[in-house]
Amino acid sequence: MKFGTKAIHAGQEPDPTTGAIMTPIYQTSTYWQKSPGDHKGFEYSRGTNPTRKALESCLAALENSKFGLAFSSGMGATDAVMKLLVPGDEVITGNDLYGGSYRIFTKIFSNYGIKFHFIDMSDPNHVKNYVNDHTKLIWIETPTNPTMQIVDIAAVAAIAKANNILLAVDNTFASPYLQNPIDLGADIVMHSVTKYLGGHSDVVMGALMLNDEDLYKRLWFIYNACGATPGPMDSFLVLRGLKTLHLRMKAHCENGRQVAEFLKTHPKVEKIYWPGFTDHPNHDIAKKQMRDFGGMISITLKGADLQETYRIASSFNVFSLAESLGGVESLINHPVSMTHGSIPKAERDKVGVTDNLLRLSVGVEDIDDLLDDLKQALS
Ligand SMILES: *Cc1c(COP(=O)(O)O)cnc(C)c1O
Repeated sequence: MKFGTKAIHAGQEPDPTTGAIMTPIYQTSTYWQKSPGDHKGFEYSRGTNPTRKALESCLAALENSKFGLAFSSGMGATDAVMKLLVPGDEVITGNDLYGGSYRIFTKIFSNYGIKFHFIDMSDPNHVKNYVNDHTKLIWIETPTNPTMQIVDIAAVAAIAKANNILLAVDNTFASPYLQNPIDLGADIVMHSVTKYLGGHSDVVMGALMLNDEDLYKRLWFIYNACGATPGPMDSFLVLRGLKTLHLRMKAHCENGRQVAEFLKTHPKVEKIYWPGFTDHPNHDIAKKQMRDFGGMISITLKGADLQETYRIASSFNVFSLAESLGGVESLINHPVSMTHGSIPKAERDKVGVTDNLLRLSVGVEDIDDLLDDLKQALS
């Protein structure tokens, strides 16, 4: 099955009791057993729920993987992966990460004896220098948030395989429509489902997709034991959102390209970060591993201090100033004061997350209205 068909149908059969086309919202915490252990595969909704199960099958299909696990947030999914590790283990990860990922690594798991190396991953050979006998996990984000660096997933996967290290990829920015890390050799794909997969800014959810059955069993154990699993209503909303993922992503990419081209030559724009430009440092890798370049764009404002950046960020009419991304509506974000506030200034400045940086999540509105809004806000 092709992508759009999977987005609409995978994991979903007409309901066996009524024939309902849409997967029902099985709003139940527990399930009847005829005699102890004699049940239909569902015992308690922390571990299993039919609405969530349909969603997990659909999510797995979209990443070309065997197994999917839905969590109550992206951070819940990341937390579960980290709980595969034990004290003394080491993780290699990027130096431009989603702020919440950096926070859980440095403020939670560092306290449990796990060591993190935050490195520039734009050259995969650099990763090799940090591999030792304690390295158990490589965690990639690509494109990175917010500077849109591109990491060569296949090249890092080869290093991971050769050294028996798990490779997890945060695929939130690309979505499975644009990039499938498992096909490129990753062991685990993580998503903040809150973003493109849900797509309507009405649900917080996370997911893991993977192929290896033993690893799935270990992660399912953590999922059920720790309990960060989503309820049936949220699972239904995401199943509904997924049905238009391919249509939305196509529109995000088209609008993203036009916004990026408009901003590239704008006199108020100092730097622009978008992997679709041929002068992006890893454009060739982006072209190789992604099907298109998406609707996430960051810019720095020429000569703008923090006050001027705040003024511009607050002067949009169609774009909304808000955290998050990937919904149908266009959003503008100021990473330093919003999504990346938990990263120390010195670390932020090193990778270009400066006070005058704005991140755009280009939505699927009419492009003329988006361009007009950018023109007036930057005038
Ligand atoms: C939002 C986000 C997360 C965290 O997901 P939540 O659903 O907010 O918990 C992780 N990684 C990236 C790249 C994100 O954008």
